[in-house]
Order: sequence, then structure tokens, then C-alpha cells
Amino acid sequence: MLRVVFLGPPGSGKGSQAKYVIDEHGVDHISTGELLRSAVNEGTSLGNQIADIMQQGGLVPDQIVLQLISDYLDSSDLSKGFLFDGFPRNSIQAEQLQVILAERNVPLSFVLHLQVDPTAVVKRLSGRRNCSNCGRIYNIYFDPPQVEGQCDDCGSAGELFQRADDNEASIRNRLDVYESETAPLLEFYENAELLVTVDASGDLAEVAESVRQVILTELAKT
Ligand code: AMP
Repeated sequence: MLRVVFLGPPGSGKGSQAKYVIDEHGVDHISTGELLRSAVNEGTSLGNQIADIMQQGGLVPDQIVLQLISDYLDSSDLSKGFLFDGFPRNSIQAEQLQVILAERNVPLSFVLHLQVDPTAVVKRLSGRRNCSNCGRIYNIYFDPPQVEGQCDDCGSAGELFQRADDNEASIRNRLDVYESETAPLLEFYENAELLVTVDASGDLAEVAESVRQVILTELAKT
């Protein structure tokens, strides 16, 4: 059973690679960024509370994120397995995640580190666009839709939109936050003997193949 955390800087391809893994393994995709963005877009009181923090690329308070994760896990079918994307992001979240998963008897299989030079991801982030209908991720520099103005996946002719936090100031802040808050988790998971690293500097297909191989190898061990 695949129960995995995808760990890497913004723009390392966590969301894009997660989509492939979900298609192949049918696990639940748990992206705290997407859950939080939905709250902002729906204008819930939680969403209004966190919109500014997200726009500036800061971390939403741990208490909010941990509650979101607990509620999500309580309402989901854990027997399918899961993939955390963008969570945990600091040591408090990582320690609490161990507790939350132990209580439910679903420990992590491993943690996949998507390794890429953080300074090289700026173009990935500034060129990133999402289909407004199905959320498919494109990059206007490296991976545009095949037919301009039409989503390859859902065929929608809707707008491709740019995330509010994919602007230069916010990107810089998110990379700093990654270095100071999230990168220390590499050592945390290394010490827990859960860390597996793949080179995520190639194009989407190359990285997808490396991720595929790692997952097959790790699943074969269980
Ligand atoms: P992402 O979609 O993973 O790039 O996340 C977008 C933004 O959502 C981040 O820059 C944070 O503001 C917020 N966010 C997502 N996940 C977390 C988390 N685990 N802890 C705190 N804030 C988060």
C-alpha cells in the first residue's frame, strides 16, 4: 500500500508528478495547498483568514493545517493509500503527522524527495498556469497546451489562470520559507530511514519515469 509524502521546493513538480502517481496507483491526493486555495476561493471564514498569508507565500498556521489534515483523513478511505503533496512543511507538522498516522495505524511507506536546485525553479513557477476547469497544470515555456486556448485533458476552452502566489515577490519568499522551514525535514526523514531522493531537474516525463521506478522498488520491499 502506497502511503507517501512528496517533499521538495515549490516548483519541484510535486503536484504534476502526483497526478501521474494517482492515475497509476489510485491513491488519495492530499494537497494542503489545494485544500487551502479552495477555502480562499469559496470565501469561507477560514479562507478569508489565510488569503493574505498565502498570497505572500508565508506558511498558514500549523494548527489550521493540522486540523485540515485530521478532518480530511477522518472522512477518507485510508485503505486506498495516500500521497501528501505540500505537507508537512515544517518540523512541527512532520512530528504531528507521525502521531496522526500512528493513531490511525497507517504509517508512511516512504518520503520522496524531489531534488532540484531551488534557484532553477523560478521559471517553472513564473510560467505555471492551471486550467480553470479541471486544474491541469501547464507551463507556458516548457509545456503549453497542444492547441492554444484549449485544455489537453478536459477539452475546455476556458481560461488558463495563474496562481495568485506565482508572482516574483511571493516566489522568492516561498523559496526562503522552504530553505528555512521545510528543508530541515530532509534530515528528519533521513534519520527515520524513510527518505528516498530522485533528481527532479529534468523534464516532466523524465522525472515521472524516475518517480515510477522508485515507487515500484519501494512497494516491492513491503
Ligand atoms: P502549494 O500549493 O503547496 O505550493 O501551497 C501554496 C501555499 O499554501 C503555500 O505557500 C502556503 O501559504 C500554503 N500552504 C500549503 N501547504 C501548507 C502547509 N503544509 N503548511 C502551511 N502552509 C501551507
